[in-house]
Amino acid sequence: MNELQTPTAVESTASDAVVHRESLASFVEFAADVLEVQHTVADGVATLEFEHREHPAWPRPYQTRVAVASEKIDPLPRKVTSPIDGGHWLWNLAALERGALVARPASQPESVHEFSSRLFDAYQVDGGQMHLAGCRLIDVPFLRVTTLASDDASMVEHRYFDHTMKPVSESQLEQLGLVEVSPLASDTSPYSRPQVESLAEPCDTAAERFMALTVIVAKRAEGALQFDIGEQCARVRFGDWTRTIAAPPFRCAASGRDSYHLAAIDDGRIVAAEAIATCEESGASVLECERVKCGVTGKQVDPRLASKCPVSGEHVLKDEMATCHACQQSVSRLAVSGGVCKACRELPAAKPTDTWVAGLTEQFPTLKQYRKFRAGKLGELVRVMAIGWWRRLLVITAGEGGPVVEVARREGLAGRWEQVPHTEWSQVLGASQEQS
Ligand SMILES: [Zn+2]
Repeated sequence: MNELQTPTAVESTASDAVVHRESLASFVEFAADVLEVQHTVADGVATLEFEHREHPAWPRPYQTRVAVASEKIDPLPRKVTSPIDGGHWLWNLAALERGALVARPASQPESVHEFSSRLFDAYQVDGGQMHLAGCRLIDVPFLRVTTLASDDASMVEHRYFDHTMKPVSESQLEQLGLVEVSPLASDTSPYSRPQVESLAEPCDTAAERFMALTVIVAKRAEGALQFDIGEQCARVRFGDWTRTIAAPPFRCAASGRDSYHLAAIDDGRIVAAEAIATCEESGASVLECERVKCGVTGKQVDPRLASKCPVSGEHVLKDEMATCHACQQSVSRLAVSGGVCKACRELPAAKPTDTWVAGLTEQFPTLKQYRKFRAGKLGELVRVMAIGWWRRLLVITAGEGGPVVEVARREGLAGRWEQVPHTEWSQVLGASQEQS
């Protein structure tokens, strides 16, 4: 698709432009090729001719002989015209026929299949496939202004600009291959004559020693590659000149790694193969950065097999966890002794006037009959233990002043902690005095 923008006339900055030289002879041959004019070069003279009956509108004469030799031919033989006059003849023909000369970088891939292997070959996809998920080619015009060299009539000078007449740097000339060009025939050019004329507008074709303007059509490719493994897919976007396009690395979102080697882990996600490790418990493929170390077994395991122990803060394999009979929390079995977790066992002593205790006894005055208390906060849970001579109660609230989430009791000196069913809470704690 053509993406022509309206050229904006800017002050010519030709003096800043990079200059490349070419022999007049080869330039005349190039121009004649673009215009499909028959030509021969011999003895320092280029002969250009056309069949006037086929091209009645073309400028005369039907045959033009242009001096292109490195040595100045003096005097010019009969019917041999000077380089500048020969150049004007060619330019008039170009302007009439095409709007300007039209070319493409000689080493530029013109179609997707010419560069797609450069993309595909870069990747390895374990157990899956890759394909193009859309690719569009975008034509980008550059302008080459050709003048006859002031010091040598057998040479021309090319200066290169973008479509706004901003000079093109040497590095971009190299990147785009703008110096070596091939003629672009009418039927393969993306631009119509009016489009070429519009592109040529900002260029001063009346300048001294002006020979020709060439629109060089560079190509960009934009699209995406898709990798399919199992039910999942991943994409990598690309956008570059077709001449220099290179496969962009796949960015593994989970590990943050850039890679050209893709594989799937056991949960189906497509990741960088270098980021994969094995779960030492199940043998599953997981991400190394997501594996957790089990605080009981020391194994590096799949995070889906482990939970975080609220008491030790460690990740623990679910099989290595136990339920505390007092608080009913699932904790690392190493944190449990006599069926009770460390957090419940080692609650610090508290005064009845301490915030957590006072808050709870305000809400449940029945608890005031207890003389001794222990209290502590772990994570979001506040534990208050009320200790009587026969019975102990453990009341757990969700945060300070929060709702009661668990009640447990222990009766007798050698009794075990047991959960108090929700239906018995009011009986055990007494009626709540909380004002709503
Ligand atoms: Zn506990």
